[in-house]
Amino acid sequence: MSNKKKHKGIKKKYQARNRFVLLVLILVIALTYIIIQKREGEIYATTTSASLGEIIDVIEKKNAEVNRYIVYGTHLNLEGSIDITNPEIKNVQIVAKKASGEEVAVDTTYEYESGELSFSTLSKINTGLDLESLDIDNYYILLKVTSDNGQINYYSLSNATEYTEPIDYYTLTRNNSNNKINISFLTQNGVSALALNINKVSKLPDDVYDVVIDPGHGGNDTGAISGRYEEDEIVLENSLDLKKKLENLGLKVLITRDGTETDEYDTYNIYDEDGRVTMANESGAKILVSLHMNSNESDFVEGGVEVYAAPNMDFSLAKSFADNIVDKANTTYSKMEEFKEEDGVYVRTIEVNHNSSTFRGYNGIYDEVPYLFIIREIGGIATGAYVNGSNSSYGENIYRNSNVGVEGYLIELGYMNVNSDLRNVLNNGDLYMQAITDSINSYYRIK
Ligand SMILES: [Zn+2]
Repeated sequence: MSNKKKHKGIKKKYQARNRFVLLVLILVIALTYIIIQKREGEIYATTTSASLGEIIDVIEKKNAEVNRYIVYGTHLNLEGSIDITNPEIKNVQIVAKKASGEEVAVDTTYEYESGELSFSTLSKINTGLDLESLDIDNYYILLKVTSDNGQINYYSLSNATEYTEPIDYYTLTRNNSNNKINISFLTQNGVSALALNINKVSKLPDDVYDVVIDPGHGGNDTGAISGRYEEDEIVLENSLDLKKKLENLGLKVLITRDGTETDEYDTYNIYDEDGRVTMANESGAKILVSLHMNSNESDFVEGGVEVYAAPNMDFSLAKSFADNIVDKANTTYSKMEEFKEEDGVYVRTIEVNHNSSTFRGYNGIYDEVPYLFIIREIGGIATGAYVNGSNSSYGENIYRNSNVGVEGYLIELGYMNVNSDLRNVLNNGDLYMQAITDSINSYYRIK
């Protein structure tokens, strides 16, 4: 009896020890699991809450390499290549795909040669994937290749650019509301991907704006003069009015000067900390409108409006500015044929009338970049910004290599030396500014 009892006691002891070991083992496993989950959770939390795993079944085990990756204005654009064996290609698109399978597709220009498919959405820098039109959700950006036989292959994207920092894009303010879009390359389950994580924010950060207005000239630079009228004063007054009108739409507007600048303000310090180029580049704004008055010494000038944009752009908004101004302010399209793209729409590049290798003392400037610095220098790599401080007459644009650019327009409202133009702008400036406001409102679907 006593032996048995003793034996039983030992058995119980053994069982207790086994249970203890088992419990510790379970605890260790559970803890390890929680730590791994938490680590993954941290990664997902800062990038996207949907796992790539949810759509991974549609992705081929091969990445396309992205060589250019640019946000210009309200659009995301990509250029890259991939080695594939598929000579019968029908269509190549960049798609933003949700975990639900829903996708937004953008056509690319592409070329397939000896096993390499190269693709680009950059033929027009202000089209591509419209960041303003996406739902509050998580998207993966994929390359979609459709073959003649109907077969569809999706490839995720890896980053071969020098731009590794995530981009925080804020959508334009509509009904006091904005979305924040985190754009970042990440690696999940060994797959490299470009992800968009979209959340609603209660308001824009203090230093982020929707629109920048740039009243041309200022400081010691009066611009064109006609009698007692100075260009810098006329465009400032109108810019302040335009600011009010855009703010009435609910937009957050930054103005590059308000008339309080000193006489020392000149071409040099447009690149300074408080200079108009730096202000625009730091504003997080999607669009900049620079207002000017034209002048021309020749007699053939008959006046009228000219809207300048970068080359390689879709001119819908530029055309809308010109059309609305002609219509609402009762003026005309400029008759100037040089640089003209469409009635009222102009593109001027450095190539024209300049030896690009010596233009303003800079080297290595390629020809197809905008001649007007405000359009060029606020666009970063999208518009070929280049002012690097090597010319002692200018400052340095420290944002010239940025892959995030502001979509720029320069509007010559009319000619200072054409009396009817000058009178119309002086008396009816309000109508010109209303026309610009209406174009922005309808183009960006603000209200
Ligand atoms: Zn001017």
